[in-house]
Amino acid sequence: MNIDIHQPVTKLKNVGPARATALSRLDIKSIGDLLCLYPRAYENRGEIRLLSDSIEGEKQALCLVIATSPKKALIRRGMSLLKFRAYDDSATVEITYFNQDYLAEKFVPGKVFRFYGKVDRKKMPSGKDIFSMSSPAAELVNEEIGELPPLIPIYPLTEGLNQNLISKLIGEVLTSGHIKDPLPEEIRMRNELATRSFALKNIHSPSSLGDLSAARKRLVFDEFFNFALGISLSGKDKKTIVGAHPCSEADISSLIGLLPYSLTSAQEKVISEIARDMSKSTPMSRLLVGDVGCGKTVCAAAAMFIAVKSGMQAALMAPTEILASQHYNDLKSLMEKLNIRVRLLTGSTSAAEKRRIYAEMAAKETGERVDIVIGTHALLSDGVKFSSLGLVVTDEQHRFGVKQRSALSLKGNFPHMLVMSATPIPRSLALTIYGDLDLSIIDEMPPGRQRVDTFYVDESYRSRLLAFIDKLTAEGGQVYVVCPAVEEKAEENEDEKNELTIDELLSTEEFSYGEEKSYVPPLRSAVQYAKTLSESLPHLNIAFVHGKMKSAEKDATMRAFSEGEIDVLVSTTVIEVGVNVPNACLMIVENAERFGLSQLHQLRGRVGRGGRKSYCVLVSDSKGENARTRLDTMKNIYDGFTIAEKDLAMRGPGDFLKSAAKAEIRQSGALRFRLGDMCNDSLLLSAAFREAKALINGGEPQSGIKEILSEVNGLFDVENNY
Ligand code: ADP
Ligand code: MG
Repeated sequence: MNIDIHQPVTKLKNVGPARATALSRLDIKSIGDLLCLYPRAYENRGEIRLLSDSIEGEKQALCLVIATSPKKALIRRGMSLLKFRAYDDSATVEITYFNQDYLAEKFVPGKVFRFYGKVDRKKMPSGKDIFSMSSPAAELVNEEIGELPPLIPIYPLTEGLNQNLISKLIGEVLTSGHIKDPLPEEIRMRNELATRSFALKNIHSPSSLGDLSAARKRLVFDEFFNFALGISLSGKDKKTIVGAHPCSEADISSLIGLLPYSLTSAQEKVISEIARDMSKSTPMSRLLVGDVGCGKTVCAAAAMFIAVKSGMQAALMAPTEILASQHYNDLKSLMEKLNIRVRLLTGSTSAAEKRRIYAEMAAKETGERVDIVIGTHALLSDGVKFSSLGLVVTDEQHRFGVKQRSALSLKGNFPHMLVMSATPIPRSLALTIYGDLDLSIIDEMPPGRQRVDTFYVDESYRSRLLAFIDKLTAEGGQVYVVCPAVEEKAEENEDEKNELTIDELLSTEEFSYGEEKSYVPPLRSAVQYAKTLSESLPHLNIAFVHGKMKSAEKDATMRAFSEGEIDVLVSTTVIEVGVNVPNACLMIVENAERFGLSQLHQLRGRVGRGGRKSYCVLVSDSKGENARTRLDTMKNIYDGFTIAEKDLAMRGPGDFLKSAAKAEIRQSGALRFRLGDMCNDSLLLSAAFREAKALINGGEPQSGIKEILSEVNGLFDVENNY
């Protein structure tokens, strides 16, 4: 019998309303969702130790024969004790349970159990060891130890749920029938993948490490394949759509004439690519990639101008309020000289103002209608309706999921779409990640840009660095400090120490930046750093921002910084994207060994945007050869694309993606895989893309793909963002 994964969990006999509510807190509604609740870690109980080999303080599995009948004792009111002895070939151990009298019947002398827990070991003066265990987990060994599962899954929990319950529910589903495999057999064989049924059974209850690895491989492939199908399908669909408004008015000289500079030839080329795309009735779907400061905004302005001159409206969406208002201020002055009406729409726009803008957007008459709307996610609100949206521009595209992008497009009738990204990505990789978009590249900077002097220092420079901050701020400049962590990491939870994540179990890779394992410099955290810095430089105004703050709070701090009220802004990489504070002249990156070259380059691009001579200081105490070479590169190379190529060459596509795209994508929550990791699984990622493209372009009738896709969607992460 096939298991119907679309059934709600309440169909399971052990799930009533209370448990259903608890499960829904983990986003589990259907049986399929439940099966996709993968363990976050496993306890390794397969490796049985002898008592004499046990390690003090560590959780471990032992196979023991019960020696004495459990003795109960009441130690004080409400507290009872159960004690017995057990042994293996090497020694005897005393085992104690608290307040669990009912266990007395379970531990019958002569029976064998697999115990899992910490072993305490005391050395007697005689040299003999005394062993004891307190409340270990115990499983009866019936035939052979090999019959017990070696790896015990540990699930993410929430109130009202426990490990046993989840294991039990999942076990019930998995033994109740068969899981259909939506993947065509050929693809499965070609890529040496296990069946879906095998994979789900073994991710939850692996019978060996090898099976766990095979299970993971299949499930990761499914995630990527699902994603790749979505991307490739939307790309294919786009090429066949007609119905976009052809914007034939490509004379942009009146706009360009207003600029205080002339365009670089790269900008000219990009604008002509955009104009050509927009003149067609197939909607443009173009990604514009260019280093920070290369002048992408003016290309977007040209595109918007072309749309407006052809009688259409244009929308520009930026990921934060501050970026949106920056664009608004820049573009408004330019566009208003051309009688083009521009409005700003963000979360903090007042309700009355919003209503007014909504009306202007929906107006049919060109005289009343707003031509260009710039905003944040607020543009996606239901109230937003355009009368004739012809172009959608999204800036800093990693911050948006593909879904959000298309949500805005849906507000028009197949509008043209331009996506801008400041991460210089080598062409080959861009095609993999953004397979659905055509690519334009600006690989040239406007003339006369200042070079941000870059230094690579270690801890011994700390006091000089403080003095440098003091000096630059005294001259009126502002400083960014970037730390890799938000807060000092709390001590690892005792229990978590012995849990192994799937990656640790299968121990795939070394620390990704080739860091020498023996020494990993401690992580600087933004919050702690800001505090310490305030103590050293009490006369300065120091603030911090990080991704865990509310966005209103974050925006307020960013705004205060851009208005010069804050001298030093300590942050995590949230500031990486787009912000323009021309007065900032020093960028300090702490734990620079943690960042990819491309990411460092992005950070460096935050300074040197105004008249002030600007500096970038990379602080790292790393002794790793690899880290040093990378940081040295930053001192000598300033071009984003060259850096991206180096980054790619030094670390391979997986790690490159990690810093260049994944970190940002992850942060924005846009592209999250449950198991898959674009970095470590890059081979599977490209295999999934290859198969998806072949399937879509191959002779298969379109309906076949739709069927697979809907199966796939039902089975996998439905919330995947494409
Ligand atoms: P980004 O590509 O990072 O979005 P912007 O579009 O914000 O870069 O441009 C950065 C700065 O460079 C702006 O102040 C802009 O006015 C200026 N700029 C853009 N193009 C040119 C050019 N061709 N010559 C001189 N300055 C330019
Ligand atoms: Mg920009």
